[in-house]
Amino acid sequence: MSAAAENSVSTRVDWTRVRRDFPILDRQVHGKPLVYLDSANTSQKPRRVIDAVDAFYREHNANVARAVHQLGEEATGLYEGARDKLAAFLGANHRDEIVLTSGTTMATNLVAYSYLLPRLKSGDAVLVTTMEHHANIVPWQLVCKLTGARLKVAPITESGELIVDKFIEALTPDVKLAGVVHVSNVLGTINPVQALARECRKRGIPLLVDGSQAAPHLPLDVKAIGCDFYCVTGHKMCGPTGTGALWARRELLESMPPFFGGGEMIRTVSFDGSTFADPPRRFEAGTPNTAGFAGLGAAIDYLRGIGMDNIAARERELLDYAVPRMRAVPGLRIIGTAPDKAAVISFLIDGVHSHDLATLLDQEGVAVRSGHHCAHPLMQFYGVPATCRASLAFWNTEAEIDAFVAAIARVRKLLE
Ligand code: PMP
Repeated sequence: MSAAAENSVSTRVDWTRVRRDFPILDRQVHGKPLVYLDSANTSQKPRRVIDAVDAFYREHNANVARAVHQLGEEATGLYEGARDKLAAFLGANHRDEIVLTSGTTMATNLVAYSYLLPRLKSGDAVLVTTMEHHANIVPWQLVCKLTGARLKVAPITESGELIVDKFIEALTPDVKLAGVVHVSNVLGTINPVQALARECRKRGIPLLVDGSQAAPHLPLDVKAIGCDFYCVTGHKMCGPTGTGALWARRELLESMPPFFGGGEMIRTVSFDGSTFADPPRRFEAGTPNTAGFAGLGAAIDYLRGIGMDNIAARERELLDYAVPRMRAVPGLRIIGTAPDKAAVISFLIDGVHSHDLATLLDQEGVAVRSGHHCAHPLMQFYGVPATCRASLAFWNTEAEIDAFVAAIARVRKLLE
């Protein structure tokens, strides 16, 4: 074996064993083995995460930060443990920079209402890009509407790459925040967030990065990126639904008033007024999804155990395997062909509606997503109502990609 082959990701990690960590992958769908190619929508969960949630309810269930009893301490330990693990996973300076949220949507809304709204006035702007998910568009629109500010949009190329010069040109003094997706959930494009952050910083404009699709697939370091806010969602990172986080620079969190009020986020309450806890507790009102965070902690341990570098390299291998085979299907067009790309493949087949395609693929046991992927403006840019999207994860196999491509070819013939 050559040195390069010996050092390849396929030999460093036993991916067949890794795959066995996911019980759901053993099931059949419509009498066929499940081929799950919808990880960008939500990832499957390894046994370790399922067990952590199960163990929470069987052994540790109690409310967090409210009880001095043993179970309360254990539950709080698991919840706060997830904060520590997220801080390490994201490369935060301090655990207090991590606000635990229900996901990215909650994180962007928190920034919109708590950070941006008090700073925004008529004539100001928020800069986004054409390839944003609605979670990184609509919250800004809502606060723009309240203040008379407006949304500005940095364009992309036909291949699905951000036009960086145009983004920089759009960073004018009226822009009070820029929001950019790290990895597009439709195109797979990996945006040069470090370079964008540098330009934003030069101009004193805070940058929020939507890391929903990056966190499950790439090694991350928010300090190296140099952004101001970074959002992740747990259910795409092998963790439970209803979990996620906002990382923000500490001084920004300290300058932000509460967004949700209620229990656990206060210092004192009287009918004359209340004072609030320090961040991050100030932003975590009410009873959280404690079992979910116990699971997310386990998910982060699991991902780090495999190694994010290994995961990124394996998914690149799978992408490089899938793309030429898909292209060989007559009439198939891939949308999103940036060279720096994650394993997310949007595609269309001439004359076939993407919903019909996805429905027929489902009959073959293949799960892909069809729709607008919560990115209406991007669909408008490409002039299509919807796409089919196959999104791969490290547990997928070359054999599954072969089965998927064979199924597309069969379905295409059927619909001819
Ligand atoms: N941003 C991107 C790029 C996404 O892919 C998603 C999930 N589809 C979100 C934001 C929203 O995540 P959540 O619904 O978990 O809050």
